[in-house]
Amino acid sequence: ARKYVVKKHFEGLPKREDFDIVEYELPPLKNGEILVKVEWVSVDPYMRAYNSRYPTPYDQFGFQVGLVEDSKDPRYPVGTRVVSHKGWCDYCVINTNDPNAGPTGQPYKLPNLKGLSNSLGVGAVGMPGLTAYFGFLEICQPKAGETVVVTGAAGAVGSLVGQIAKIKGCKVIGFAGSDDKVKWLEEIGFDKAINYKTADIAAALKEAAPKGVDCYFDNVGGELSSTIINQMNDFGRVSVCGAISAYNDSNLPKATILQPALVFKQLKIEGFLVWRWFHRQSEAFADLIKWIQNGDLKPREHITAGFDNIFDAFVGMLNGDNSGKAVIKL
Ligand code: NDP
Repeated sequence: ARKYVVKKHFEGLPKREDFDIVEYELPPLKNGEILVKVEWVSVDPYMRAYNSRYPTPYDQFGFQVGLVEDSKDPRYPVGTRVVSHKGWCDYCVINTNDPNAGPTGQPYKLPNLKGLSNSLGVGAVGMPGLTAYFGFLEICQPKAGETVVVTGAAGAVGSLVGQIAKIKGCKVIGFAGSDDKVKWLEEIGFDKAINYKTADIAAALKEAAPKGVDCYFDNVGGELSSTIINQMNDFGRVSVCGAISAYNDSNLPKATILQPALVFKQLKIEGFLVWRWFHRQSEAFADLIKWIQNGDLKPREHITAGFDNIFDAFVGMLNGDNSGKAVIKL
């Protein structure tokens, strides 16, 4: 089998030399283990953000969808499709009761996707879907007619948040990093999309949201977020999902003072980690699958082919090459 091992902590953008591809013999299965042939691998921003937490070398973790080819756990017979956090590998042995599985939890059976692509198991009907669904609905508590702003709007999570906000009857404004992304977002129902790289952000937002912003789903942090928060309405809610603008930047950005906006507008701002809601997966998946099937939610995927291209897909995602969820088909 083959797997990616991180051998060196990243400085700035990850480099190919920070990884080794290791070839090794898979051990024979023990009771409670399954052999999985990996079919879809995910690349996500937290792989960058969490890198310094783990001593090197470590196996690159991440969600994947695969097919059980051999099994010593009757709950996962041969032919079952599973979602696990075993990361960037082509085959793996999974202990289905791993006490060290961590916050991502045990592997689980791919939900019945009713004919949709299995790749959605690492996207709209997987971790990013849960992030968008709970991170937005639980923390922002959107009401019909309110104005919602999403940054990282053309990405895996952001594009779902904007569409869920439309389903809930909100007005939605998205920020993304290219004119093509802006065009796509307006095609899938965003009321307005803005290229944060070229626009005068404060002025463009004022024009798009003359009545102010009620909910802000923050994927990026930094100056862009501060500008948005300063245009929020009283009792606005901010869901802080990510801070990708800072992940590859080792020089701390200069501080921007947000506290006056927080106090005088009585904002509620809350960070979260999606693991908080993993036990409520089935609730979210049922809605997400229903919305995809009835056409209210159009998940897009940015698909790269081949095990050897996972690293390039990872850096491409960090650089904004993707519209929708970046996934790799093995
Ligand atoms: P995306 O699919 O959105 O991919 C990352 C995107 O970030 C790129 O496409 C790029 O788009 C954008 N980006 C890169 N650099 C910058 C920058 N300097 N400023 C603004 N945007 C930038 O990834 P995900 O949807 O998987 O993740 C989005 C965010 O959600 C991340 O911050 C991630 O860490 C967070 N997250 C948090 C979770 C949680 O539990 N809290 C769970 C899952 C994700 P563009 O062209 O628009 O710049």
